[in-house]
Amino acid sequence: SEVRGRNIGPDDPLPEVKNVILVMSGKGGVGKSTTATNLTMALHRAGFRVGLLDADIYGPSIPTMLGVSGRPVSLDGKSIEPLERFGVKLMSIGFLLEDPKAAVVWRGPMLHGALLQFLKDVRWGSLDYLLLDLPPGTGDVALTLAQRITSPYAVIVTTPQPVATDDVYKSVSMCEKVNIPVVGVVENMSYFIDSAGVSHELFGKGGGQAIADFAKAPLLGQVPIDQSVREWGDKGTPVVQAAPFSTVARAFVGVAERL
Ligand code: ADP
Repeated sequence: SEVRGRNIGPDDPLPEVKNVILVMSGKGGVGKSTTATNLTMALHRAGFRVGLLDADIYGPSIPTMLGVSGRPVSLDGKSIEPLERFGVKLMSIGFLLEDPKAAVVWRGPMLHGALLQFLKDVRWGSLDYLLLDLPPGTGDVALTLAQRITSPYAVIVTTPQPVATDDVYKSVSMCEKVNIPVVGVVENMSYFIDSAGVSHELFGKGGGQAIADFAKAPLLGQVPIDQSVREWGDKGTPVVQAAPFSTVARAFVGVAERL
C-alpha cells in the first residue's frame, strides 16, 4: 500500500503523522481492538512507521493484546513518551490506571481531556500511520477527534450478523455527518473452517458488504474466526506477528494493504 497523506491543518495536534485511521464499530465484541492491533502490526511489518492509540477509554484492551504494561514517563515534564512493542509506538488509557481492572468512570470532560492530551502531548514522532482504537458506538470520543484532527479516515469493523450491522449503520451516518471518510469495512468472524476444511458461516453472512454498500466504501476483507486469534491476543502477541502466514493473519494483512 502507499501512504495516502492527509491535509494537515494549522492547529492539528499531530503535524508529523501522515495518516490517522479511526477504527470503529457499532457495538463491542465484534473484534475492533483485535483488528486495530493486527492492522497495526501488518502496517509495521510492511515497513511503515506506525503508532496505536487505545482510545477505548471504557475498555482498554490494547495493553493485554500487545502484552505491554508499565507507566509511560515524561522526560521533559511536558510530553509523554509512548511505550513501544514490536517496533510500534503505543499509548493507552490503561497504562495510566492503577488497577487495570477498575472501570473507568470518568466524566465526559476528563475523558476528552485525557484523549486530547494523548494526541497532543504524546511524543509520537513522525509516523506514516496512527491508528486509533475508538470506543464502540457513536460516542463523543469520535466527535472530539473529528473536530481536532484534520482529515482522519475511518475503518469500520463489523460481523456478518444483521444485529451487529444495525448499530454499525449509525457509526457510518455519524462519519458522514462529521465528514470523516469511511475508507472501508472489515468483516470479522466471517466464517469458520473446520478440521475437514469445510467453511461454516456461523454468524450468517452479508453484513460487511451491506455496510460497505451503505457507506459507499469497499469491503476491505473478511477475517475468519480462528482460535489462534484469541489465543495470541490473550498472550500479548497479535496473530499477524506470531503467525504471519496463517490464513487469518493473511486476511488482516490483505486489509492493511488496502489502507
Ligand atoms: P471489540 O474490540 O470489538 O470489543 P475484541 O477485539 O476485544 O472486540 O474481540 C472480542 C473477543 O473476540 C476477544 O477475545 C478476541 O480475541 C476475540 N476475537 C476477535 N476476532 C476474532 C477472530 N477473528 N477469531 C477468533 N476470535 C476473535
